[in-house]
Amino acid sequence: MIPSVLPTYNRAPLAFVKGEGSWLTAEDGRRYLDLGAGIAVNALGHAHPALIQALTEQAQKLWHVSNVYTVPEQERLAGLLTAETFADTVFFTNSGTEAAELAIKMARKFHYDSGQPERTQIIAFEGAFHGRSTGAIAASGAEKMVKGFGPLMPGFTQLKWADHDAIRSAITDQTCAVIIEPVQGEGGIRVVPDQCLKGLRDLCDQTGTLLIFDEVQCGMGRTGRLFAHEWAGVTPDIMMVAKGIGGGFPLGAVLATESAAKGMTAGTHGSTYGGNPLGCAVGAKVTEIISDPAFLAEVARKGALFRQGLESLVARHPAVFESVRGEGLMLGLKCKPAPTDVVKAGYAAGILTIAAADNVLRLLPALNIPDADIAEALTRLDQAATNLLAT
Ligand SMILES: *Cc1c(COP(=O)(O)O)cnc(C)c1O
Repeated sequence: MIPSVLPTYNRAPLAFVKGEGSWLTAEDGRRYLDLGAGIAVNALGHAHPALIQALTEQAQKLWHVSNVYTVPEQERLAGLLTAETFADTVFFTNSGTEAAELAIKMARKFHYDSGQPERTQIIAFEGAFHGRSTGAIAASGAEKMVKGFGPLMPGFTQLKWADHDAIRSAITDQTCAVIIEPVQGEGGIRVVPDQCLKGLRDLCDQTGTLLIFDEVQCGMGRTGRLFAHEWAGVTPDIMMVAKGIGGGFPLGAVLATESAAKGMTAGTHGSTYGGNPLGCAVGAKVTEIISDPAFLAEVARKGALFRQGLESLVARHPAVFESVRGEGLMLGLKCKPAPTDVVKAGYAAGILTIAAADNVLRLLPALNIPDADIAEALTRLDQAATNLLAT
């Protein structure tokens, strides 16, 4: 009999009842160190007092109004984001997938309004993940996501990951945009080299192609900069944000330059919940905290500290771990066994991690994880690796 909850996930038999900082408590009272953070969503850990305050203060005032009215909480968050980034304008969504949909629409509309309606083709990359809508799965093209769901939205090609020559020859007079994660998350914590992002920006400039960065997972401070592309010193025309921006409240955003957004006039796009006052009140608090340079410097320091510990972990367990990758607190351990087995061994050791493609175990702790919890994480990962070899 089909479960009452549609079984599209291989769920672990773990149910949590309470969260605090980097820790989750299960129904049976056992505590787990959370290095998944809801897949980079709980950027400030669980139950952060400032977020609880922002949420409850807004909840007592106003939950929801339609986007047919002016929403001051949206304007406030949009102001914070445009002040901190390349962007001139922001549209709020409830998820990363919805941000992908708008990014695609915006890019196509840009060329349509520029008198080049034939420029509809979007170049994406192998291993990419942009969400689960029919458009977003078409962008990724991965067989496990698209099989059985055709016909897919046309107009996407996937190139080998970060292959500059392939990109150069793939851009034609039909090309609309290139969409890329500066650090692939689901794809296995693959950091696009700075040189490659720079080269991509140049190619896009030379050909009038729009550059879309998907920073749904790698953005909002995750790599030690507010957005991962800042490390390369280049900016996109359009950027998707979600996950960490709501700190656990469903919120996403599309950021764009004035030029890229020029086609998105009244009536061309919308969302009932997108930019809801509750979400934006929380998002503004999250953004305020994370965009503080002192906070970001701490993320980078903690990332380096964690990474150093992980390097010794790899050295101690060469039969389980191969190497460390990533940037800031977006870290991956390349595994010898299936990463799902390591995740399971982690459950037994009281630590939560997330598997990714390319045989990588993802570590995405809260950005404010205390140093002591990083040390505890290393101890528990060590225990998980030891137990894994013993079985
Ligand atoms: C999670 C993710 C998405 C999709 O976001 P949802 O909120 O699950 O719709 C898109 N792109 C990237 C890079 C992601 O990690």
